[in-house]
Amino acid sequence: TVSGGYVGRFAPSPTGPLHAGSLVAALASWLDARAQRGRWLLRIEDVDGPRCPPGADRFILDQLARCGLHPDEPPARQSQRGALYQAALMRLQAQGWAYGCACSRKEIAAALLARGGTLERHGELVYPGSCRAGTQGRPPRAWRLRSTAGLQNEASLQIDWQDRRLGAQTQDLTLAVGDFVLRRADGLWAYQLAVVVDDAEQGISDVVRGEDLADNTPRQIRLQQLLGLPTPRYLHTPLVLGAHGEKLSKQNGAAALALDTPADALRALREAAAALGLPAELAGASVSEFLASAVQGWRAFDGMMPASSSPSPLAPAL
Ligand code: GLU
Repeated sequence: TVSGGYVGRFAPSPTGPLHAGSLVAALASWLDARAQRGRWLLRIEDVDGPRCPPGADRFILDQLARCGLHPDEPPARQSQRGALYQAALMRLQAQGWAYGCACSRKEIAAALLARGGTLERHGELVYPGSCRAGTQGRPPRAWRLRSTAGLQNEASLQIDWQDRRLGAQTQDLTLAVGDFVLRRADGLWAYQLAVVVDDAEQGISDVVRGEDLADNTPRQIRLQQLLGLPTPRYLHTPLVLGAHGEKLSKQNGAAALALDTPADALRALREAAAALGLPAELAGASVSEFLASAVQGWRAFDGMMPASSSPSPLAPAL
């Protein structure tokens, strides 16, 4: 685990403005850092440049500032950290854990169907490992991480971890995820590699983020193990559902948080705090008063979050 004091972070992908669900993760990570008298950092995850409209990052920083959530350092930007990701990939290549893959999506689908395997996992293909032993002279398109227990051992690898809200978690990395991409065929760095390198480089002791990311955690822990990096503590916060029970995401057009006035910010923070299971009667007539009482409420959780906090439907007014 991580040595030293508490360092937390919020790591938005600037594909659009914050919505009510992203504020829940932002607030939780800020509260956890403040409750433990730690530092709170921001990281702009703009590694997928083409999906990030110009100005979205500044818009997000402004939304956070309106909610009183100020980082302790200027934000880091993934788009400027390619050299760090490259160094990590080279290390994994040298160890033999990362290998070049020449397969197209079509070839992967065909190989999976031929062996009667599973085609889809959250819309992603579980790679059948065709290029593990080499690309047979074809140029590599992407770089993947071998997901098995050993370099010479095809047995599947189970990753066990503790979540501060969800409790004991387990995933069979080999069967559930397979050999995952580190660098994509289009040259972009995969989120999994970037987030692991950045969390370590920024000295993050505690990752607090939305539950939709929980099943990425075993991939990140595996990369930490292979790169000799510490594993932070993890806390995955409850998802906020839309008025019709749907997951809120920029992809399905969740409304940007409207924060035109301090009263808007206060209302958005109250909603986010309620989704986190904080007491409804938190005091505070201003954003800063509210945040101060929310920190007290968070301290009462004592390092865990109530397991009962479950996805809470959002008031349709947002
Ligand atoms: N950038 C990711 C997102 O916005 C979050 C990454 C993380 O917190 O690990 O979904």
